[in-house]
Amino acid sequence: MHRKTAAIIDANAILANYDFACRLVSKSKNIAVVKSNAYGHGLVPVAKILEAVVPALAVAILDEAIELRVAGIQKPILVLEGVNSSDGIKEAVEQRLTLMTHSDEQVALLCESGGGASPEIWLKVDTGMHRLGIAPDNVRSIVLRLREQGITPGAVCTHLSRGDETGSDETLRQMEIFHDCTAGLELPLSIANSSAILGWPGSHSDWNRPGYMLYGNNPLDVENEHTRKLIPAMSLRAPVIAIRDIGAGESVGYGGNWRAAMPSRIGTLAIGYGDGYPRLVPNGTATFINGHPAPVVGRVSMDLTTVDLTEHPGASVGDMAELWGNQVAVNEIAAACGSIGYELLTGVSQRVPREYDGWS
Ligand SMILES: *Cc1c(COP(=O)(O)O)cnc(C)c1O
Repeated sequence: MHRKTAAIIDANAILANYDFACRLVSKSKNIAVVKSNAYGHGLVPVAKILEAVVPALAVAILDEAIELRVAGIQKPILVLEGVNSSDGIKEAVEQRLTLMTHSDEQVALLCESGGGASPEIWLKVDTGMHRLGIAPDNVRSIVLRLREQGITPGAVCTHLSRGDETGSDETLRQMEIFHDCTAGLELPLSIANSSAILGWPGSHSDWNRPGYMLYGNNPLDVENEHTRKLIPAMSLRAPVIAIRDIGAGESVGYGGNWRAAMPSRIGTLAIGYGDGYPRLVPNGTATFINGHPAPVVGRVSMDLTTVDLTEHPGASVGDMAELWGNQVAVNEIAAACGSIGYELLTGVSQRVPREYDGWS
């Protein structure tokens, strides 16, 4: 790579965050969620970093699971969206994948593909998210029907719609519906994603499904004693490639939406929205150069971002800026532009090389 812009991924942070999830819920198994390019951290490398310590990995779609198998990952892999074709089922059997089964159509597909071998499955119940999942009233009959085909779900699971809201009753309501419709089935249960692991101890069950917390950022709407222990795994960095002095009254960037109130020193960073640094960050958004704040001034463009170095005369061309990481949380950048850290991390584009620290 000729440009020094990079996302530095700390393998030990990912391992420490996973270990922390395990210590928080020692009675549960934790399936590590690595969907969407491991939340932008690199699907295959992150799976390899975690493989030795996890019982299983989860991805959203079949193609992500196949990519892991092709890369030599042997552990069980859960496909959270399951599949909607008999070809998909065949592929899942061949690749030894576990299919989340979340709809009547998927149940029918599994039952019709009798004769052929059946893949492992998990069953998903819709307790209030209203996105994926079979109706709570149908859980018993569907489990029965599957058992008649010789299929026993490895777990029954549900997903929380407001697990990040520590003050919401909805999580308790969903858990009650879930426990009612699964009582007596004697199947392993799974409720908690990261926010529930960190904020809703009552949701911890046989399997938890941590994703976001593995990458070291807080999924809850507040900090607590647990969230403070997470270690950010990605540091997004870009070099200063130009510096100039401008006079009071001069503007910077497209649209001239920042104007210097006094003579100012402007640094230009080799990163922009084409790399996944959001265009919507406002003036004043934090970046750090050699430990000093260098706030964004002017609009972020596709390849470049301008920062105010007036208070940081020591900065020079070639110095590296951190856009998010240990000095400024990705959640903070996201909040400043009406998004969430999840979106920013998964949005780091292909143009940004991922460099792995502590792993090769
Ligand atoms: C993405 C996902 C998770 C992980 O959620 P985080 O908030 O990242 O921990 C867990 N379960 C399901 C069904 C998901 O889709």
